[in-house]
Amino acid sequence: MATIIDGKAIAEKIRADLAAQVKELQARGITPGLATVLVGSDPASEVYVRMKGDACNKLGMHSVKITRPAETTEEELLALINELNSDPAIHGILVQLPLPPQINADRVLEAISPAKDVDGFHPYNVGRLVTGKPTFQPCTPYGVMVMLQEAGVDLAGKEVVVVGRSNIVGKPVALMCLQRNATVTICHSKTRDLPGRVRAADVVIAAVGVPEMIKGDWIKEGAVVIDVGVNRVGEKKLVGDVEFAAAAERASAITPVPGGVGPMTITMLLHNTLEAAKMAGSGNR
Ligand code: NDP
Repeated sequence: MATIIDGKAIAEKIRADLAAQVKELQARGITPGLATVLVGSDPASEVYVRMKGDACNKLGMHSVKITRPAETTEEELLALINELNSDPAIHGILVQLPLPPQINADRVLEAISPAKDVDGFHPYNVGRLVTGKPTFQPCTPYGVMVMLQEAGVDLAGKEVVVVGRSNIVGKPVALMCLQRNATVTICHSKTRDLPGRVRAADVVIAAVGVPEMIKGDWIKEGAVVIDVGVNRVGEKKLVGDVEFAAAAERASAITPVPGGVGPMTITMLLHNTLEAAKMAGSGNR
């Protein structure tokens, strides 16, 4: 039976450490500040933005929530980003995606100062990730890496199979595993024989968005399973991309959904915001 990698407990431990660091920084006159920008009123986005702001405040960080109507133009949003770029109280800027169709999300993400890009989506920071340089690492993949580390998984020489190739999860997590000397396979909707690929994996990272599509009997005995997927089934139930109970019988360690990767994402956002504030404080940006 697999060990459960408890994302909630790991996240709490990290947040306690971050809170202590925030205090130290405040003693030097710097309060880390995060601006969240929400355009429109998508209910799920509203919840995410609120959770991010609340998490900041709980740690003693400064947070500003900026909401704009759904009909906001790209020019208006770019002007807002410019203001935030030059606001010394703001160290991190997060634009909640998706944006309405009249706004080009790439243009907006590229307008964020790379020094305040705490989501790690700016092409400058993506380029640094690709080339293995220190950077703001995108929060969800970063959370996955921290969980693997906390679970004592050494990736060197391991076969890692990432299912999903999105820019926010699949691709960056694959690069991070490569950086830690794993042999990485990235699978997607056109991959032939997905079960065969997963069966060969020492570590499976699922970021698909299809409830329980990765079957328990695809998991190699003793493999480590990280389930990034969050899928709502029915009114209240959340499940991952992996058939949890059957996979847990074969895996050596597995993340649950909920309580796995989810709590790590905001934690790494807080971490990145703190780092951005430290860099601004040292004049190193
Ligand atoms: P995307 O929809 O952007 O990407 C999904 C990926 O899965 C694509 O690369 C797609 O392939 C691939 N895929 C879809 N169907 C199949 C299939 N049948 N077989 C193999 N591959 C398939 O999703 P995200 O990366 O944004 O998110 C993935 C999941 O992670 C979602 O459940 C999301 O809710 C969750 N998530 C959780 C977060 C957290 O904090 N815990 C944060 C972010 C996401 P192709 O490219 O060929 O279309």
